[in-house]
Amino acid sequence: MTGTTATSAETSSQRLAPQCLYIGGTWRLPAVDEWIDVLNPATEERIGTVPAGSAADVDEAVDAARAAVAVWAATTPENRARLVNALADELERRQDEITDIVVAEVGTPRRVAYWAQVGLGIVDLREAATASSQIAWEEPLRNSLIRREPVGVVGAITPWNYPLHQITAKIGAALVAGCPVVVKASEVAPLTAVALMEAADQVGFPAGVINLVHGYGPVVGEALASHPRIDMISFTGSTAVGRRVLELAAQTVKRVSLELGGKSASVLLDDLAGEEFERAVTSTLRACYLNGGQSCNAQSRMLVPRSMLADAEKVAAAVVADYCPGDPSDAATKLGPMVTAAQRDRVLSYIRAGLEDGARLVTGSAEPAAGFSTGFYVEPTVFSDVASTARIAQEEIFGPVLSIIPYDTEDEAIMIANGTHYGIAGAVWSADQDRALSVARRLRTAQVEVNGGKFNSAAPFGGYAQSGHGREGGVFGIEEFLEIKSMQL
Ligand code: NAD
Repeated sequence: MTGTTATSAETSSQRLAPQCLYIGGTWRLPAVDEWIDVLNPATEERIGTVPAGSAADVDEAVDAARAAVAVWAATTPENRARLVNALADELERRQDEITDIVVAEVGTPRRVAYWAQVGLGIVDLREAATASSQIAWEEPLRNSLIRREPVGVVGAITPWNYPLHQITAKIGAALVAGCPVVVKASEVAPLTAVALMEAADQVGFPAGVINLVHGYGPVVGEALASHPRIDMISFTGSTAVGRRVLELAAQTVKRVSLELGGKSASVLLDDLAGEEFERAVTSTLRACYLNGGQSCNAQSRMLVPRSMLADAEKVAAAVVADYCPGDPSDAATKLGPMVTAAQRDRVLSYIRAGLEDGARLVTGSAEPAAGFSTGFYVEPTVFSDVASTARIAQEEIFGPVLSIIPYDTEDEAIMIANGTHYGIAGAVWSADQDRALSVARRLRTAQVEVNGGKFNSAAPFGGYAQSGHGREGGVFGIEEFLEIKSMQL
């Protein structure tokens, strides 16, 4: 991805490219004629361009959103939920088309992109619309009336890894709460956000309720985070950038919610055997490799009783054989390319760090995956006998790299699981559900899968510690965007 000036010689895939920002219900040219190329990570071809927006564009979008505050807050929660549901309907009609865009700009394998990328985005909106009816918008408390009101204009800054879901998880809740939004999508994968705006335009939200400003983080992201007329920032991305957003937002004492990085652990207990053990290893690997390992809640550490280490390696190696890197648009592919050359290089540098720190390579390589003339491919990689303090066991890699860490006692396993700066997700596996649950209660992390418990889109999603604060999903997600007023009668 590079900055360019737009040319008239567009490729056929340029039909994916927008030419404008979406502000106040119309598509507008940016204030400055600078553009960002969007690359397909499998082919390295340019598939579109978006404007590199400026602070002036942010000002316009904030003006449009502010102008919509009173109108939007005055609509009933039922009407807001109806429009959010209509947006979900519109996305459902375009699910195939948007899946193609996600595959092209992120490199997620198509069959995963259809449900985990676009399907989840649709579910986010429906959950928010449903949960709206569970909010006590006004309720008595002794001699008081407690009222929940929209926080105001929300700036939503999002990453590239799930480019629809990361936006819909925020705007579904914010819109239902009664807040107009200004979205800044990732410059790495901004085309999905354009499709979302086209769908929103079709649905007919009042002008200014949804706005999109493309651009680079240090320009558009920082203008949003420090903007005096934005009331709240909802940020998803890396911990380093989250820290910067928090600093800038502090100047205006904005409310900030942060969904940041992770280094989640799957803990296999010593009573597992046979098929249950295999299921635990297989499921952990799948949760590590989903979307090429580019998920904040990737289970990138697997904690295994020392006596079971060899068995875990054997099962893991067999599962990985199924994850040959390949063309993400091919229905059979399970592992696509990394999103950018920089991301590929970052993953390879961590694999080298694993080797330097003495971890044992079960499978994988510190070289780019062989056999590709284009694309940012890496080999699916598993390390074993990893020290819990090693860099690959402590830092977020954001690629298909699993660290198997041996432990001797249950207490030690819990200490290792809790021994990073992060706390997004995790898993516990045991032959005894009560034992698994008691270990899950001791994990300092915001989501835990107990014996393969399924993802629940109404359950709160967020992070402990440096994985952030605030929650998304269902009622919890809407509450983030509400002020609480008490009127004494
Ligand atoms: P990133 O932090 O580089 O970028 C995220 C967004 O912030 C982008 O839109 C970017 O343009 C913007 N940004 C960059 N610099 C900025 C600045 N100085 N001020 C304001 N905004 C700025 O993250 P990424 O590489 O896009 O995404 C990967 C990261 O996101 C990983 O760390 C991952 O764990 C995290 N993530 C977290 C969750 C979660 O729910 N906790 C979900 C997905 C991804």
